[in-house]
Amino acid sequence: TEEVLHCMGCGVELQTENPSEIGYTPASALEKEFVICQRCFRLKHYNEIQDVSLTDDDFLKILNGIGQSRGLVVKIVDIFDFNGSWLPGLHRFVGNNDVLLVGNKVDLLPKSAKKNKLVNWMKKSAKDLGLRAADVFLISADKGQGIQELAAAIEEYRNGQDVYVVGCTNVGKSTFINRLIKEFSGEQDIITTSQYPGTTLDLIGISLDETATLYDTPGIINHHQMAHYVDKRDLKIISPKKEIKPKIYQLNEAQTLFFGGLARLDYVSGGKRALTCYVSNDINIHRTKLEKADDLYANHLGELLQPPRQEQLDEFPPLVAHEFNIKEGKTDIVFSGLGWVTVNEPGAKVVAHVPQGVGVFVRESLI
Ligand code: GDP
Repeated sequence: TEEVLHCMGCGVELQTENPSEIGYTPASALEKEFVICQRCFRLKHYNEIQDVSLTDDDFLKILNGIGQSRGLVVKIVDIFDFNGSWLPGLHRFVGNNDVLLVGNKVDLLPKSAKKNKLVNWMKKSAKDLGLRAADVFLISADKGQGIQELAAAIEEYRNGQDVYVVGCTNVGKSTFINRLIKEFSGEQDIITTSQYPGTTLDLIGISLDETATLYDTPGIINHHQMAHYVDKRDLKIISPKKEIKPKIYQLNEAQTLFFGGLARLDYVSGGKRALTCYVSNDINIHRTKLEKADDLYANHLGELLQPPRQEQLDEFPPLVAHEFNIKEGKTDIVFSGLGWVTVNEPGAKVVAHVPQGVGVFVRESLI
C-alpha cells in the first residue's frame, strides 16, 4: 500500500499533482527529511501567503466557525465581478459579527467613473443579496490605493477582536494580505497559524496585537466566475491589468457586438446611438449585423471570436440570452467578470448573451 505523507507544518495530506490545491509539494521535496507543503514553505521562508482553494464542505466549516467566534469579517469582492465573486451563503454565517465589504481592483476603473456611485451600488446590491455591510471600501491591493484607510477602519471596527478576511478565488485576497503583511512587517513572527476545527487546514494569521489575529481564510471557487470558463493563458486577456479605456461604438438598430466569444450584446431597437464599452483593453470587440450573429458565432467561435480557444469549445457553456428594455437614461449593462456597456439615453432594447451560469444585469451608470 502507498504511504500517505503529511505536511510537518500544517498537517495536511501531501500531494504532488495540483499546485493550486492544498497540500501541494513538488515531488523532489518528498525526499527531504522534513517535508512541508509549498504553502508552509512560502510562509516560512518568504512570509508570503499563497492562496489555496478548498472544497465547499471545508469552506462551510470555516464559515460556521466564524459565525461562532466574535470578530470582524472583511469580505473582499472584485468590482469587475461583483456577482461572480459574491459568497452566497456568507450572511447566514456571520452571526452578529460586523462585515466590512471591500471592492478590490479600483485601479482599473476609468477616471470618469464616480466612486461614490460604485460604493452606493455595492451597498444596495449587498443588501439585496441579504448582507448588511457595516461599511464599504474601495481599494487596489495591487497599487496600494485605499489600504491605509481600510487598515484604520479594520482597527476601529474590530474593537480589539480577531479579523477574518474572506473572499473567493481571483478577487485579489492574497495580494491584499501580502500587502498588509508588508505594512506590519519589521516585527518578527507576525505570522501565526491556527487549526480550524473540523477542517483539513490551518488558518494563517497575522498578529494584530497580543490577543488578536487577522486570519486569511482560503479562497472558495465560485463557479459563476467568468474566469472559470477561459483558459489560464487567456485570463490576462479578460482580467485587465491597466485602467480601462472606454471604446465607443456608433450602432444602428439590429447590430451586434461580440466580446471575443465570451459574451454578446444585440442592440435591437432605439434608433442610431452610441454605446460605450468598458472591458479589458485586450478583449477583441467584433461588430456585425444582428441577423448574421448566430451564424458567425456557430462558425467562428474559437477563431475570430476568442477566447475561448478552439480546444476548449467542448467544455464552453452555451450563451444564454437576457433581454433588457432600458427605460432610464445612463444605464450600465454589466457582464460579470468582463465589464460593462453604458447606454446613455432611455428607450433602447438590448439582448445580452453570457455563458450559462455567468451573471448579467443592469445598474445606474457609474459615469
Ligand atoms: P486571490 O485568488 O483572491 O488570492 O487573488 P490574487 O491575489 O492571486 O489575485 C488574482 C489576480 O488579480 C492576479 O492576477 C492579481 O494580479 C490581480 N489583482 C489583485 N489585486 C489587484 C488590484 O488591486 N488591481 C488589479 N488590477 N489587479 C489585481
